Amino acid sequence: MKRPWKDVSVALRDGMIHWPGDPECHIKRVVSMDDGAVCNLTHLSMSAHTGTHMDAPRHFIADGMTMEQMPLEPVIGRCRVFELDCEDQITVDDLKKLKIAPRQRVLFKTRNSTRSWAMNEFDKDFVSIRADAAQYLVDQGVVTVGVDYLSIGGFNKDGVETHQIMLGAGIWVIEGLNLAEIKPGYYELICLPLKLEGADGAPCRVVLR
Ligand SMILES: [Zn+2]
Repeated sequence: MKRPWKDVSVALRDGMIHWPGDPECHIKRVVSMDDGAVCNLTHLSMSAHTGTHMDAPRHFIADGMTMEQMPLEPVIGRCRVFELDCEDQITVDDLKKLKIAPRQRVLFKTRNSTRSWAMNEFDKDFVSIRADAAQYLVDQGVVTVGVDYLSIGGFNKDGVETHQIMLGAGIWVIEGLNLAEIKPGYYELICLPLKLEGADGAPCRVVLR
């Protein structure tokens, strides 16, 4: 019997933590049965990079692919979850130990999963991917990279470079995973971002088993 699917997406909720400066996440019930209406209806407004989401190349590459152009291959299939005990950034040395294979989908579990998501404010010290480590991932030929907080690159560090390197190489990026319940190893991955036309990113539901 197959093991059950595990949801590694974070719940979207009104006023949730987001990247500093990005639009607030507003989720409000605008029609309510409590007020005598025949149905409930929720209005939603947020950045495309809220919670668990994907980055399309268009996020940092002016003529890069947009969300609706994404092939399904990068987001459905076998993936590998690596656990790293980095305190600051993921470095080339950290990655060299992992024996990353070409064409792999890789997810990195760090202390972000337990620490950053438990905080009441944005965690500026989340573990991110250093620019040279991003280049190493490109050189290894990975297809998809997932991380367990809101950006692959650091806050006030090399956020721009890391995005430019990975998105410029056509890697599909999943950000904002919560891998707290996931042990390192091989999994089946299903990650389906909203088909937002022309968009540089999209919220997604991500499950593993
Ligand atoms: Zn993003």
